[in-house]
Amino acid sequence: SHPLPQFFNKTKESYRIYCESEKHMPGGVTANIKHFSPYPIVMKHGIGPTLTDVDNNEYVDYLMSYGALALGHGHPRIQQALQQQILTDGTYLFGAPHELETTFAKKIKEYIPSMELLRYTNSGTEATLLALRLAYAFTGKTKVAKFEGHYHGGYNEMLYSINPDEKKAGPIEEPVTVPESAGLLPGGDANTIILPFNHPEACERLLKKHSRELAAVIIEPVQGGFIPADQEFITRLRKVTEEEGIVLIFDEVKTGFRSSLGGAQNVYQVTPDLTTLGKVVGGGFPFGIVGGKKEIMDVSSPKTGSDVFDTMQSKGSSAEETLFHSGTYNGHPMILGAGLATIELLESEFRNTLTLANELRNELESFFKQKAVPMKTIGMGTIFNLVFTNQAVKNYRDMSKTNLFFRKELDLHLINEGIYTKPLNRYSIATVHGDRELKKTMDALHYVFTNRLT
Ligand code: PLP
Repeated sequence: SHPLPQFFNKTKESYRIYCESEKHMPGGVTANIKHFSPYPIVMKHGIGPTLTDVDNNEYVDYLMSYGALALGHGHPRIQQALQQQILTDGTYLFGAPHELETTFAKKIKEYIPSMELLRYTNSGTEATLLALRLAYAFTGKTKVAKFEGHYHGGYNEMLYSINPDEKKAGPIEEPVTVPESAGLLPGGDANTIILPFNHPEACERLLKKHSRELAAVIIEPVQGGFIPADQEFITRLRKVTEEEGIVLIFDEVKTGFRSSLGGAQNVYQVTPDLTTLGKVVGGGFPFGIVGGKKEIMDVSSPKTGSDVFDTMQSKGSSAEETLFHSGTYNGHPMILGAGLATIELLESEFRNTLTLANELRNELESFFKQKAVPMKTIGMGTIFNLVFTNQAVKNYRDMSKTNLFFRKELDLHLINEGIYTKPLNRYSIATVHGDRELKKTMDALHYVFTNRLT
């Protein structure tokens, strides 16, 4: 329908399929995040660190499905776990308790002991949604605070932030809340307080000002998985939330089993009240976990009340006292099997993956230094990002001021040379990345600088 954009010259079939998909899905995609201009590349196959697109081009994959794939594509351990569930146990969904639910909970608690009790969900979004509801029910308060530019899933309270144009974002001491989506309910912005990340004084002042209404503060302890909280900032955040009776939720959907095996909370040695996990722990399948303090989690326990009432309401005991949490697929045995296999493999492989991530960061930094291009890598554990700036990047406002145009152009050229992340996205390293991938990446970068960008 459109003329073929000039940028990509090897992906004509991708373009054909994308144009066709536009007739069937808004913007041609099933999730807005999959879209980028001039058009997204359509993939057909993944094995280890490599993706193959519909034109048979191969890519070193650093997107790793937004960090979800810690073992890369098609890992035999995951395939074995899935087969075990299908072939040996005969069926794969019971609608009843399953022993793997407990086995898996124990494994998670080995690494993240703050999750005293936990519940499974079907995505990271559902996990944060449940965490917020637990906080509202536990405290009896009705508002939530989140940080500028942090992502916790796409639903009403969490779809507010600041304007990316700093002139319109308001002062750091009093960020101006703006919706990030059409279709939010009127007045919704009143329930979400926006806080500045890595700004302890302003953050404390806002929390104290709103503490009587604030049920929870939700935070990505490492924003986007790559902008770390300062130690002092996160320690003070823990202290003030404790003093003010506000539930502190660490959203570790990206950082769990990536910042370290114990997530960011292990690195900072700060214990939140609730934690949410997703991505890596689902082994590549739709999954999330909420866990934390027993007294908060127990608000969702259905163990009091009558069975007759339970059945009629499909809820819990006396409906207004017990927090509703259900789901046909919660604790899906196949996903728990894939998640368990992932964690078991990371137990022996995480250290090597971390070493490779650091080697790649060093090589990228020396490359750009040699080219006199201001760039640094920032991140924690097995996720990092490339930022083109001389300045410190400590929050969303700093990130918006980096050279995103250059970054996107570089990413598109790298895709053309077989190095894939969605433009402007993080690099997530998997156990299957090795020296071969590192060399391919540096060779492609060299080629792009010599032949495309000069
Ligand atoms: N929280 C964080 C920190 C995330 O990064 C994401 C997804 O990127 C989510 C929540 C939502 O998870 P999901 O995409 O599984 O719904």
